This record gives sequence, C-alpha cells and structure tokens, in this order.
Amino acid sequence: MHHTNSRTLFERAERVIPGGVNSPVRAFKSVGGNPIFISRGEGAYLYDVDGNRYIDCIGSWGPLILGHAPEIVTKAIESQLSSGTTYGAPTELEVELAELVCEIMPSIEMLRMVSSGTEATMSAIRVTRGYTGKKLIVKFEGNYHGHADFLLAKAGSGVATLGLPECAGVPEAVTADTITLRYNDAESVLSLFKSHGESIACVIVEPVAGNMGCVVGSTNFLQTLRDCCTQWGAVLIFDEVMSGFRVSLGGAQQLLNITPDMTTLGKIAGGGLPLGIYGGRREIMETVAPLGPVYQAGTLSGNPIAVIAGLNVLQYLKANADTIYPKLAALGDLCAAGLREKAKARNIPVIVNNCGSMVTCFFTSASEVTDYTSAKSCDTAQFGMWFRQMLESGIYWPPSQFEAAFLSVAMTERDIHKIIQSSDESFSRL
Ligand SMILES: *Cc1c(COP(=O)(O)O)cnc(C)c1O
Repeated sequence: MHHTNSRTLFERAERVIPGGVNSPVRAFKSVGGNPIFISRGEGAYLYDVDGNRYIDCIGSWGPLILGHAPEIVTKAIESQLSSGTTYGAPTELEVELAELVCEIMPSIEMLRMVSSGTEATMSAIRVTRGYTGKKLIVKFEGNYHGHADFLLAKAGSGVATLGLPECAGVPEAVTADTITLRYNDAESVLSLFKSHGESIACVIVEPVAGNMGCVVGSTNFLQTLRDCCTQWGAVLIFDEVMSGFRVSLGGAQQLLNITPDMTTLGKIAGGGLPLGIYGGRREIMETVAPLGPVYQAGTLSGNPIAVIAGLNVLQYLKANADTIYPKLAALGDLCAAGLREKAKARNIPVIVNNCGSMVTCFFTSASEVTDYTSAKSCDTAQFGMWFRQMLESGIYWPPSQFEAAFLSVAMTERDIHKIIQSSDESFSRL
C-alpha cells in the first residue's frame, strides 16, 4: 500500500495545524506512523488520497451508525440546503427532533440542543449545580466527557478533597471540586456519599464506557449511583454521547434498565453533523434560561442542517430498530469472537470486550478489563504493531488501544470476516 499523498499532506498540515490534526487521536501518535488523509467515504468503506480502500471500523468515532453518506442523510441535507443553513430563530424541525428524542428516551422530558458533546456535558453540569445549589462533581477514571476544564481532572491523593488538573492550562481551582473515582467500584461511591453526600451536585458517568476501550458498567455499580443520587439529592447524568442510539435505540439506560436524571447526547444524534443534546427531568431542565437562572446559549445551536440530518437518522433507526440493533449486535459478537479465537490460536493474550457494535481488543494478560487500571495493563506497543498491520491490509481500526471500534449497519458479515482474517495475519506477525 502506498501512502505518498498522505505523507505530503501531513507535512503541509503539520506546519499549520498542531500535530497536523484537528483532534489529537487522529494523529496516530500512540501507534506510530502517519495518519492517512481521507478523500471519500462510502457505506462501510473509506478511501484515502492515495486511492487505498479501507473497511472503516471508526465511523468518525461513533456518529456513523449507518455508514458513510447514507441517502437518508444526504437527501435530507440537500432538501434543506437551498432554504438556508441557519436562522438564529426557532424552527419546526427542532421541535420534531426534540419530541422524537423525548419519545425514544423517556427519561428526557425536556432538552436543549447544542453543537457538540463537550458543550452538552459542560452545560448539563452547570445545570446540576444551578439546580442543586451544590458544587461537587463526581466522575470516573477512564471516562471521557469532552474537554471542558473542570472535567479534565484526575484523582488527587486524598480522594474526596482535591481533584488535580490532568491537562496543562487548567488551574487547580477549576478541578478542585471534581472528584474522580474508580469505574465499576460501587464501594468507593458509597463511602464518598457517606462523607460528602451533602455537597455533591452530580455524578456523571458513561454507563457503557467507550473512552478507555469498551467497558460495560456493571448493574450493581450503576444501581448504586442511582440509589446514592436519589438518597442525597444529587443529579445522575448518563453521558450517552457515545452509547446513545448505539448500544440500543434508547441507549445504555434502556439496555441496562437504569434511569438517569439527565442525559447527554451527541455523535449519532447529529447524523454525522455537529449536534449535541442535554436533557432530563422537566423540573431540572426548567432551570435553564430563559425559563430559569442557568445561562446557556449557542449561535448555531439547532441549526436546520444538523437537525434535519439527526432527525432523519433517528427516525430511520426508530422505524427499523427491530432489524438494525440485532444486526449490529450480531456483527459485534461475530467480530469479538473472531478476534478472540485468532489471538488465542496465535498465543497472543487479549481480552475482547464488546457491547453490540462497540468492540475493543485489549492486548493484556489480565483476566478481564473492567476499569481504567485493567485497561492500562495493555501492551500498547504490541497494539500499535497490530494496528499498523491491520491498516496495511485495509482495515481502519481506531489508532489507540483505548478507543472502541464502531461497526455500522453498512457492514456485512463478509466485511467482518475480512476484519477477522486480517487480524489473524496481524497477530501472526507480532
Ligand atoms: C465524544 C464524547 C464526548 C465529547 O463529544 P464531542 O462532540 O467530541 O465534544 C463526550 N462524552 C462522551 C462519552 C463521548 O464519547
């Protein structure tokens, strides 16, 4: 496979864009090599600027559940385009999308549209602080909720006191009220609430985590969060930016049957365009301006292009949920089982986690991956070699050990078998 044109473009990009990319994980830093530059996507496939074709297992990091350029989306955008791209005034389309999301996720009684997942979580947290009058935020190691300052925190030494900044440019004061606990650890949640319950505004969690690789929240853990929040009057936020409309139509909350107070959405919600959503119980959402005292606004929020794309995708998913989600689960299970079997035959220790169409192959000899500590036990150098072999054989797997692959409805069993076969060759070369 040649990558000459990608290399040339990367050299140009590096001069004018930090690391040559507009979002860090695209840069292949953790796997070595240079990023490939994409010219076109079609269904399950990506084409790069050197004319190579790849099976796309990233799907733009989650949004593309229907694959690239599905007619449902392109036609919808075309139909709106000549009427304008933004008005800064309300439209019927926004009402339709809001009604549909409330119907699909009954825990959401009212919602606000924004332009990214980061904006959704950042705004949701402001709302919980405004609503409760409390200040502490509880989050979990290995979960990612976008890049708002107060969410870029790691666990401090004295757990329940000061969260420390995880990122240059974030002052300690901003993360001091963010407490980071271990994922899937119900005990630490109980003891934190016992000592600090009265000051906790919210708990934010990925109920099915995708940002340390795919790790499913245990029922006991999530139910503990639910019970503690109810008992202490804290707001439980499920960050379903990734899992929403992905692990089931109604997201992780439907799949695992646990009801949050608030939900954040993005990725699939915009059908491949920039759109985020935060919403939840009416009483909480009524604190948002202009109804209530919590300010939040956006020039392009609810713009008709993103909204019509998201609306059409969600309508399609809802109308075809009976076939789409079983198909995605079958593809995910097939892929996971195949990777497991091939690795075992080649004596490469891996743990493959999947939740429907989210799949991660952890290169670890740990017995299971359930939290950030076990995820971090991975041999990332080995993963990097495997990744580069996969890429050379036409499989565009996420270029990080700590990201989930996303399969799409555009894929067939044949594509999955190709992935498995390539994985076997790649395992054999480690
Ligand atoms: C992607 C993601 C975000 C951030 O969304 P952006 O649109 O990238 O700002 C937040 N939370 C979760 C769980 C995500 O996967």
